[in-house]
Amino acid sequence: MRVTDLFSKTSKQVPSDETSVNAKLLIRAGYVDKVAAGIYSYLPLGQSVINNISSIVREEMDAIGGQEITMPVLQPKANWEQTGRWKSFDVLFRVRGEAGEFALGPTHEEIVVPMAKHFVKSYGDLPKYVYQIQTKFRDEVRAKAGLLRGREFLMKDLYSFHATEADFEKYYEKAKVAYRNVFKRVGLNAIETRASGGTFSKYSDEYQVVCESGEDEIIYCPGGDFSENTEIATVKEGKQCDLGHGPLVRAKTIEVGNIFSLKDKYSSAFGLKYTDSDGKEKPVLMGCYGIGISRLMGAIVEVMHDERGIIWPRSVAPFDAHLVHIEDTGTEPWVKEIYKKLTEAGVAVLWDDRENVSAGEKFADADLIGIPVRLVVSKKVGKGKVEMKERDKETPRVFTVEDLIRELS
Ligand code: ATP
Ligand code: MG
Repeated sequence: MRVTDLFSKTSKQVPSDETSVNAKLLIRAGYVDKVAAGIYSYLPLGQSVINNISSIVREEMDAIGGQEITMPVLQPKANWEQTGRWKSFDVLFRVRGEAGEFALGPTHEEIVVPMAKHFVKSYGDLPKYVYQIQTKFRDEVRAKAGLLRGREFLMKDLYSFHATEADFEKYYEKAKVAYRNVFKRVGLNAIETRASGGTFSKYSDEYQVVCESGEDEIIYCPGGDFSENTEIATVKEGKQCDLGHGPLVRAKTIEVGNIFSLKDKYSSAFGLKYTDSDGKEKPVLMGCYGIGISRLMGAIVEVMHDERGIIWPRSVAPFDAHLVHIEDTGTEPWVKEIYKKLTEAGVAVLWDDRENVSAGEKFADADLIGIPVRLVVSKKVGKGKVEMKERDKETPRVFTVEDLIRELS
């Protein structure tokens, strides 16, 4: 892709009400466009990051038997009254149309449970797992943290249906492994944290990323054997970890995902039952498993940036390499040739082909956009050669195109 063809441009301006690091950088670099507090459009670069994160999440959900579906955003009021959440869900968006009142889905138990009733009849129909990656709506009071807290945002939500508690617990452990894989693959160190289970279960597990701008707080062992949300913390910071990894630490964090036991709370509300092998009717047991896809994108930026811009991990970056051409007489064919060879080799290249833009400005934009590898073609580097520098390193190296392709793959 040529920079001159890209729909977005970098900019030095940020809306004055935007205070979060992730939104400032993502707006300036041309990943998102701000519509209002907590509401953003995803530009081509941003959509590409969202797609990359979504693909990783899909692979991991498919690997634990998840089947992808799409449920509606527009949800009848009756469904929400059935669970009592039409009144009690504090951030529910309620809308009125010709056909009555609706909720804009902030989560999907009210849809997935009555749907499962159409298909789950007996113990032979269980377990089952469905998930979606879909836009959620929540009337958040403080939507000041950019992508970390949207009023409209993208979530992956998986729901599992089980006959027995033991079967649920087995799946819950599998989901934990899938979650660890997701966060590792997107380049985040997410700490598995004990949190409140709400009204119907003792605990839940949250995935927390240490970050000063986070709204959550945990007490954890840096050695990795303990973490609790301070909402429920039973221990104090400074206490020695059990495995001898030194004292427990208190830290601000971003919750990027969570997994939850729902027991029979929603299945009972909708009468979702199955007939067991003994002929008796029993309530289906459920789990739910969320990941904030757009929040993840924001969290990656919060954790991985410097004063110059974003530093994307390779797995989610919109391109593999950012090719900067420093104009000089006769070098035009060099860069064209290199772009062609790289593209043919399957390297996704963003080529800054702008004319009459200074090298300094091109480098500054490359740092801001944050693609993991920067390439330079110039008279100084020489014909048939490319200078390569990784975004998170300082020293450049020079390669022939062939060696570079080998290096990048
Ligand atoms: P929080 O405590 O941060 O409001 P939550 O407990 O309400 O989160 P869930 O309802 O469990 O979150 O949603 C599942 C996941 O969706 C969360 O782990 C988070 O990653 C993401 N998420 C929740 N609310 C938002 C939001 N307003 N904007 C972006 N992502 C969100
Ligand atoms: Mg919330």
